[in-house]
Amino acid sequence: MNNIVIGAGVFGLSSALSLLEEGEDVTVIYGNHSNIASNNALGRLDSVLKGSGSSSHLPQEINIKNGPMRPENQQKLAHESYLKHKEYYKKLKNLSDIDYVLKDILTIQICFNKEEFIQIADSASHIQSYGFDMTLLEGYEEVSRHQKEVSKDIYGGALISGTLFLNSESFVFCLKRSIEIKGAKILDDLVERIDIDKKKIKLKSEKIMSYDNLIISAGPWTKKLVSGIGVDIDMYPAKGEIIKLYPDDFDLNYHIHGPCSIVKKSDGLIWIAATYEENRFDLDITNKSKNELLNNAASMIPCIRDLQVIGQTACVRPATKDGMPIVSEVVKNSGVFVATGGGGWGLMQSFFIGEMVKNMVIIKE
Ligand SMILES: Cc1cc2nc3c(=O)[nH]c(=O)nc-3n(C[C@H](O)[C@H](O)[C@H](O)COP(=O)(O)OP(=O)(O)OC[C@H]3O[C@@H](n4cnc5c(N)ncnc54)[C@H](O)[C@@H]3O)c2cc1C
Repeated sequence: MNNIVIGAGVFGLSSALSLLEEGEDVTVIYGNHSNIASNNALGRLDSVLKGSGSSSHLPQEINIKNGPMRPENQQKLAHESYLKHKEYYKKLKNLSDIDYVLKDILTIQICFNKEEFIQIADSASHIQSYGFDMTLLEGYEEVSRHQKEVSKDIYGGALISGTLFLNSESFVFCLKRSIEIKGAKILDDLVERIDIDKKKIKLKSEKIMSYDNLIISAGPWTKKLVSGIGVDIDMYPAKGEIIKLYPDDFDLNYHIHGPCSIVKKSDGLIWIAATYEENRFDLDITNKSKNELLNNAASMIPCIRDLQVIGQTACVRPATKDGMPIVSEVVKNSGVFVATGGGGWGLMQSFFIGEMVKNMVIIKE
């Protein structure tokens, strides 16, 4: 079958990879937009704790009920996706010769009050059922024994194993290289129109291409693209910013998680992630976001303010209201599918989504 995938973010590339593994023909067309989410994400893979910066968009009742934990509707997908990453890392590293540095970093979940601490304590058996360790850290003293710079205002915390981090830019590069090796054609062009009756697409270069199956993984641009064939999908753009700090002598050995994530990445910089602005579709970095991230980080580690901000990025997530992805055939038996809506955890979902796309397109499950 002639499969065309629109988009070379993690959803499009993982879908292409899964199809190629089944021996299918795949062409990936990507618009080469600057600063796509896939290249700029924090790169955190976490089955148990919610996304970095996601508190601001989850419904308040879910924040109150689950505290720092991932909402229930996301838990199964999160864990299965997490396991897929472990399965694929060595395989793709060997195939592509590109190392996207998947590594474990212990998380200290910061609790600012008794309620958050109880929520984490109550989740112990759930966390351990995934094979992760969790140790409760009672009061400032116990937390500061691990990371001495934490704020004296915190109530306590928990030390949780299992959080993985990867270098997102290298991850995309590795996926691209892997699908190329497996025989995919990759075209730098923009898909402008889909003719669902003739099963053809028209590109910006005026080229017309035919497909048997069309998989649309155009990130936050997906909604607009499918609106051209009269389909409305329930998703929206959600802008996110990250700041990067030079560590000086600050020895950060953990991923500190609370109102944001603070972590030393494989580039040697301390990343603070992320802001979340619904229905924003621009790539402007702002002082407002920088200050929000610094304030959130300083509430956990006050001395973070003394470090120099040497980088700031902005990109746009393809988000959905319930935080769950959209993987479906948009018009029955049309051969046109969408795979999108990764929101703040699309990197983590990627391999799982690839498998779903394969099942939907080939096996028609
Ligand atoms: C600040 C921030 C931090 C994040 N941190 C994490 C994290 O720690 N962990 C995690 O799991 N996830 C994280 N995410 C989420 C993750 O980055 C996204 O969910 C995921 O990258 C979305 O991938 P995608 O392939 O759907 O879209 P994108 O990455 O947006 O890719 C879309 C692709 O479609 C192409 N395209 C668009 N229109 C067309 C067209 N008409 N023709 C051809 N090509 C087209 C684009 O050029 C691009 O190649 C974060 C996101 C943000 C914003």
